Amino acid sequence: MTPAASKLYTDDVSLLMVLIDTNPFFWNSIKSTLSFSKFISNVLAFLNSILLLNQLNQVVLIATGYNSCDYIFDSSASQNQNQRAESLLQKLEEFVEKDESLCREDSVDAPGFSLLSGSLSMALCYIQKVFRSGPLHPRPRILCLHGSPDGPGQYVAIMNAIFSAQRSMVPVDSCILGAQHSAFLQQASYITGGVYLKPQLLDGLFQYLSTVFATDLHSRSFLQLPKPVGVDFRASCFCHKNTIDMGYICSVCLSIFCKHQKKCSTCGSVFGQSQAQDSSTPDRKRKTSVDK
Ligand SMILES: [Zn+2]
Ligand SMILES: [Zn+2]
Repeated sequence: MTPAASKLYTDDVSLLMVLIDTNPFFWNSIKSTLSFSKFISNVLAFLNSILLLNQLNQVVLIATGYNSCDYIFDSSASQNQNQRAESLLQKLEEFVEKDESLCREDSVDAPGFSLLSGSLSMALCYIQKVFRSGPLHPRPRILCLHGSPDGPGQYVAIMNAIFSAQRSMVPVDSCILGAQHSAFLQQASYITGGVYLKPQLLDGLFQYLSTVFATDLHSRSFLQLPKPVGVDFRASCFCHKNTIDMGYICSVCLSIFCKHQKKCSTCGSVFGQSQAQDSSTPDRKRKTSVDK
């Protein structure tokens, strides 16, 4: 499914899928550093600058909420350019209200993960639609403006999305707004050849966006973009969704488990007993992390 070079407009025409984190729990936690409204005004200026760079450029904005995700803005669909910002803000407001209404009382004490796996999948679906739409299409890339902590329960879905992006040659760029690094997005950017950046000062967010993430894929080969200092390769076990350093891997389907299982819960393969119980030959035990 890789796009053939002849199908591209030119090297520098981009389709930029921007995924913004609208998780209210996250924004409440950093409101003293960066307010959501200031963040949105930075994003709007960034989207406008992308559209100004090339008239064939296209941007699509997807909101990643706490319970849901949705397409907020598509520059190819908007008719009136003057009302672009208004319609975007209106749709965003409707989305945040709808997302909030889906919130159940009992789910609030969770640390507040946002639905990154869902919005990544939506972005990839949109890109596949563009690939199949006709003979000419822009070069797609995904930019995640993310702040919420990684939801271990989404590990499998996010890894599947990452491998799908890699297969379609779609780089996933990540700009981390929260205090913590995101292991999921570190891996996403590393595997797909995107840029991972955690800005030191969120006051200058637009500067980071415009200097690092506005460059099209062709121009990137001529630039010195930030390189990640390290990637957290730790995986989550499929049984409890915990992040683990060491684990057991099914040799048939590569499912990861934190404890020895008699049978793989994913593919049903039955594991041998003798080697697992004899701790002197732990050849089922493989290290999944080489970080730090
Ligand atoms: Zn487990
Ligand atoms: Zn298996």
